[in-house]
Amino acid sequence: MTARRSLLLALLGGPAWAAAPVDWQGLTEAQWRARLTPAQFQILREQGTEYPFTSPLLGEHRQGVFGCAGCGLGLFSSATKYDSGTGWPSFYAPLPDAVATRPDDSLGMTRTEVHCRRCLGHLGHVFPDGPPPTGLRYCINGLALVFTPSK
Ligand code: FE
Repeated sequence: MTARRSLLLALLGGPAWAAAPVDWQGLTEAQWRARLTPAQFQILREQGTEYPFTSPLLGEHRQGVFGCAGCGLGLFSSATKYDSGTGWPSFYAPLPDAVATRPDDSLGMTRTEVHCRRCLGHLGHVFPDGPPPTGLRYCINGLALVFTPSK
């Protein structure tokens, strides 16, 4: 690479292809299948639910951030994680601007579905039986999360 081209790339903040943001809400089913394991795909993209007491993240007690397994957006701080006894990783609050909700009337129940604000991946549900200070229980599939410990 020439010095002139290197300078130009530096001024532009790197090659455009490296800096191009992913259009998370525009990915096709095939692109999601290529990015996720079959189990992750079933949860995140098909509103699945993992079997309770199966997630290794139930026993994750280090400080850190639980991010979206689809797009990597940070979703929950370890500071809000608690043992709900349900068999799914549970939190009493999400990080700011991390998740969104919508009504879910499937399975003959009225529940509130929780999804990633950025990629719209299904995470779980939120219930009004959580601990203080919010009284909310974000009941989240471990397969929808990736944990990054604090440095
Ligand atoms: Fe996401």
